[in-house]
Amino acid sequence: MLVLGIESSCDETGVALVEAAGPGVPRLLAHGLHSQIQMHQAYGGVVPELASRDHIRRVLPLTEQVLAETGRSLAEVDVVAYTRGPGLAGALLVGAGVACALGAATARPVLGVHHLEGHLLSPFLSADPPQFPFVALLVSGGHTQLMRVDGVGRYELLGETIDDAAGEAFDKSAKLLGLGYPGGPALSRLAQQGDAAAFKLPRPLLHSGDLDFSFAGLKTAVLTQAKKLGGELEARKADLAASTEAAIAEVLVKKSLAALKATGLKRMVVAGGVGANRLLREQLNAACARLGVRVHYPELHLCTDNGAMIAMAAAMRLQDGQAVATRTYAFDVKPRWDLATV
Ligand code: ATP
Ligand code: MG
Ligand code: FE
Repeated sequence: MLVLGIESSCDETGVALVEAAGPGVPRLLAHGLHSQIQMHQAYGGVVPELASRDHIRRVLPLTEQVLAETGRSLAEVDVVAYTRGPGLAGALLVGAGVACALGAATARPVLGVHHLEGHLLSPFLSADPPQFPFVALLVSGGHTQLMRVDGVGRYELLGETIDDAAGEAFDKSAKLLGLGYPGGPALSRLAQQGDAAAFKLPRPLLHSGDLDFSFAGLKTAVLTQAKKLGGELEARKADLAASTEAAIAEVLVKKSLAALKATGLKRMVVAGGVGANRLLREQLNAACARLGVRVHYPELHLCTDNGAMIAMAAAMRLQDGQAVATRTYAFDVKPRWDLATV
């Protein structure tokens, strides 16, 4: 079974081809990605209307590129999958519209996929995929959740952020420090030259006893520190970046360990853009090694949005009998959509 996957929920256009043959983990044949980051940088964030228009320009050329790379033709594709939500409505409509048009033109069924399920299952694209069950830490630009995952489509929410997402905390703090958009990777790079103990920043809900997160207070604390530093900020920027990164990483690691303890599970998966963070990986690996817990990550370049994770999630759902692709080409999208309801 050959699955074409299309991702267009935000500011990345992604297309991929995944093959499921037999009971094993489906295999990625090729994927193509176009990031709109440069286009949105001038505005300090994603401009939804520009995002939709750029997806329109990119999605078919990327599809042709992926097919050419694999030597497959559109006629060989068995199912066309697309991101149905959550995300920007206009951006989602482009991917859904193109997927349904391709499906209708080739008389192939289509399947709408949950974007976060794509992130969640993206570690299955790596050479050493995890096995169920596991605790998942989903840390992206819009979400921060801990989940118990017992299989495809069997997701139990253990805790989540009550305000900002971890990626948002990175991006907003980076913006305050003048590091551009999206600031997560830039803040993390600068942090390497700084002293993480230089500033005392809050670790909200660290001892709350539950598995929820709160990051909104962190950006306020960073802003307060930056103001206090005044003219000294430039010289202390790396220290402030390092302290910010350390605060976010510590909360994510401690809550992950609490989730492992609460579930008794011995395997972890980290997914979403913040899963690329160097410090988070270092600290989580060290803590989990002490507990005999294996941690699985997506490959670095597949942590942020891509088509491969969408094709993979569709292929795994279909293989597992958890979803049926349909020849109903009247599509809708779900800009807001809770993963636990899938
Ligand atoms: P969602 O998936 O919740 O809809 P999204 O698709 O925008 O949101 P992702 O693409 O998974 O989110 O991740 C983007 C986020 O990851 C951004 O907030 C970005 O700053 C952050 N990020 C990426 N790399 C790093 C890194 N090395 N360190 C910290 N944050 C990072
Ligand atoms: Mg993005
Ligand atoms: Fe995402």
